[in-house]
Amino acid sequence: MIATCPHCGNPVPVNGPQRRPICRSCQKVVEITAETWHDILREYLESYRGLEPGSGSDSTIMGGTTLKCTSVKLPPPDPACPKCETNWDLAGVKDGTDGAIVCQQCGYTSPTYPPPDWLKAGVPAAAQVFFGERDRTGAVEEAAATVAAATPIALACPQCGGGLLVTAQSERTLPCKYCKVDVFLPDAVWLKLHPAKEAKFWLVRFS
Ligand SMILES: [Zn+2]
Ligand SMILES: [Zn+2]
Ligand SMILES: [Zn+2]
Repeated sequence: MIATCPHCGNPVPVNGPQRRPICRSCQKVVEITAETWHDILREYLESYRGLEPGSGSDSTIMGGTTLKCTSVKLPPPDPACPKCETNWDLAGVKDGTDGAIVCQQCGYTSPTYPPPDWLKAGVPAAAQVFFGERDRTGAVEEAAATVAAATPIALACPQCGGGLLVTAQSERTLPCKYCKVDVFLPDAVWLKLHPAKEAKFWLVRFS
């Protein structure tokens, strides 16, 4: 699931039932209300019966924040461990478990936890979350610290060859202090300073 940051327009992966994911590009919180989450899951539950295992649906939710999600009804067998591709034993995890699911083959772990209260309040059938990230306090500060800690990158102005020093706080386009031309930072430089986060697969088990 991917949200569009209402502050800067960049994509923000939402890798779990989070109401306050952080945009890596601008270090701002992207608010997703509990109601929006309820709508997403209810809509999914409604279409669930009509879906063949293995098939899915794409939906776009507009609101303060545009959300795009792709959901798939799981066929048996369970999804596979990203490391060794052995199927996870989801049935072995009881609802309410707050901890990690461990791959029996390679020992890789992934979080599993009960849905937060605000989620269950609107969707009582939600029973357990697998592989999802959670809202964490201090996440904004953490994202800002990561950016501040990134080493500046030196590159030559494509116009005059003058030296430019780019930091994570730099805008995507910055003026060369020698020839005053606006230099648009190449992707390689930009991504080094703002590591992109990938959208990951996570799931909610319903009872
Ligand atoms: Zn942003
Ligand atoms: Zn494994
Ligand atoms: Zn220049």
